[in-house]
Amino acid sequence: MHYLNQFVRLIIVVVLSCQSLSALADVLSKPELVAKGGGSLFGSGSMQLWEIEKIAGGIYGFRYTFYRSIFVITQDGVIATDPLNPEAARILREEIHKLTDQPLKYVAYSHSHWDHISGGQVFKDEGATFVAQERCTENFLENPNPDVVMPDVTYRDQYTIELGGTSMTMYYFGPTHDNCLVVMHIQPENVMFIVDLANPPDGWIMFYNPAVSEDRVWNMPAALDAIAGVIEREGIETIIGGHMTNGINPKNGRPTIIRGTIGPSTTVAERRDFWQALIDGTRAEMVANTPVEDIPDKLVADRYLADRIVAYDEDKMRILIQRIVSYVLTGE
Ligand SMILES: [Zn+2]
Repeated sequence: MHYLNQFVRLIIVVVLSCQSLSALADVLSKPELVAKGGGSLFGSGSMQLWEIEKIAGGIYGFRYTFYRSIFVITQDGVIATDPLNPEAARILREEIHKLTDQPLKYVAYSHSHWDHISGGQVFKDEGATFVAQERCTENFLENPNPDVVMPDVTYRDQYTIELGGTSMTMYYFGPTHDNCLVVMHIQPENVMFIVDLANPPDGWIMFYNPAVSEDRVWNMPAALDAIAGVIEREGIETIIGGHMTNGINPKNGRPTIIRGTIGPSTTVAERRDFWQALIDGTRAEMVANTPVEDIPDKLVADRYLADRIVAYDEDKMRILIQRIVSYVLTGE
């Protein structure tokens, strides 16, 4: 996703309800910085190119620009997730080995998009097993990228990595932002890592790039509902997103990264409602016989959902509605 382009345009109001956060979530939302480097990001002074934070238990976050992945250090080895890109992966490998003598055993991909999962070769070289949903392999074969390491282990609906007292369960609920995107549930910390499909702290955010051709609108509400079901069943209160939350620092008006992308699990149900509301509004216009080519302009003129969507943007909304119109017409 093109977060860099959006960076200076987003103004994000973060309202975290203290009541919705448990004590654990409170700890999770204040991760401990353990390393940073690479020089100043966007001349913003204190913000470095990359950063490693201890989130909870054995779970660490790795931020590189606006991207984020996590890794888990266990007593029997390390589980990494998205390597992001070759430069980020090189830094990540170095930093992991400063934190532990344990070998890197697994790399689990969240989905197949190159901007999240390139650069894994440094982990392959030390013997890591790569795990991904089976359609990711098809994507890599159809559309090869020399920087992407092929998965060694694939699965269809669900897969659990057990290592040193940690379990990481990956759930696939059909095509969404990508046709092989999964969410990862980590125990015993009981948090979920979600990339690109929803990003905390707010599900009603216009972080979505409406030009991403892959988004399967038809399955968005159902898949997000299924993920919300896992969250409810497992009592998960906190999710970790695959991107930093960016915005404008209200104190000085300058671009900044609101540290975290760690927030309430209610973000997932909100994201489901976001997609459902877009679909419902578009369908209502069709029922009212608004010509399909006029629906995007009509809903923007009506300021449909403008008061709910954080960082609402008329141009993006027009594209988004156009995308929904295509789905309502074709089913895709
Ligand atoms: Zn993606």
